[in-house]
Amino acid sequence: DNAAASAKIHVLDPRLANQIAAGEVVERPAAVAKELMENAIDAAARRIEVETEQGGARLIKVRDDGTGIAESDMALALSRHATSKIETLDDLEGVSSLGFRGEALASISSVSRLSLTSNALDDPRAGFRVTAEGRGMEAHVTPAPHPRGTSVEVRDLFFNTPARRKFLRTEKTEFAHLEEAFRRQALSRYDVAWTLRHNGKTVHRLPPGDSPAARERRIASLLGKTFIEHARYIERQVGALRLSGWVGLPTHSRAQADQQYFFVNGRVVRDRLVAHAVRQAYRDVLYNGRHPVFVLYLDVDPEVVDVNVHPTKHEVRFRDGRTVHDFLFSSLHRCLADTRPDAVAEPPA
Ligand code: ADP
Ligand code: MG
Repeated sequence: DNAAASAKIHVLDPRLANQIAAGEVVERPAAVAKELMENAIDAAARRIEVETEQGGARLIKVRDDGTGIAESDMALALSRHATSKIETLDDLEGVSSLGFRGEALASISSVSRLSLTSNALDDPRAGFRVTAEGRGMEAHVTPAPHPRGTSVEVRDLFFNTPARRKFLRTEKTEFAHLEEAFRRQALSRYDVAWTLRHNGKTVHRLPPGDSPAARERRIASLLGKTFIEHARYIERQVGALRLSGWVGLPTHSRAQADQQYFFVNGRVVRDRLVAHAVRQAYRDVLYNGRHPVFVLYLDVDPEVVDVNVHPTKHEVRFRDGRTVHDFLFSSLHRCLADTRPDAVAEPPA
């Protein structure tokens, strides 16, 4: 007797549909933090504060001083396929915001206790809070004063999806992932002031500053002094392709590929084509089995890169991959050519 096969077709209730979609983007607390920080950046925030408890499993709160959400839009903010960032397919092709799918808040709020408080006005007594309730996830909006900007509070992630909750690791591991997500965002926007707090303690407090010295201070504070001491600054532009950032010298290679940051138009990506170009460029200067460190920024025309490849947007597709690959390889190869490890350091043990 196959109940599933003989059952009538019906439309899933919104909460269940969102919970299924959440499977793709809300892997763990770090993924929630990433989505909330990206929303704050998209809202043009100058200050972003992240507060977490128990590795994010108990609480993830992101507060920003961005544009805020108008009262009339509050009810839509938590519903699926609702976004202020694109309207047409043309917009999608040239999209420059980090978000555009209109799914994150709906997904997250279907698997946690989420409340969003926001104020789009300069009056600090104004503001509203929205939650999505029941199987229908009906928006419930109440007045709640908030300074201009937005706070999103996510409590008890996966409390209603035990299968997912089982995959949560220790508090330490989850926080390590969350901190890594924070690093990536903080390395993508130097003009924003960032703080990260965990269980009431400040873990990172990063003042804003776009000058080269301020950028190096931030990198040192996030990745360690040795990173910046053993890195070389690179800047190169060919046509519409621009590469800048810090490439680690072979003297500071690592046993693991754990300090490799590559941003395309401000979005951190793990891309095979990029990884290959970098590996090739380091091939002659790095010992086998060692991994380079780098913080690199590639800026291209948004029209020549497709960011809608995967729901988490960790992958991108370049229209002309060959050109991008060759540009990266030649830029890095030139920069590294005179840094053979045998010329500057003892081989690593
Ligand atoms: P997306 O970012 O893909 O548009 P989200 O579900 O992450 O989808 O957010 C839905 C909408 O809610 C956004 O398009 C934006 O209009 C609004 N929003 C979310 N977070 C913020 C924020 N921190 N500040 C201002 N608006 C926000
Ligand atoms: Mg978003």
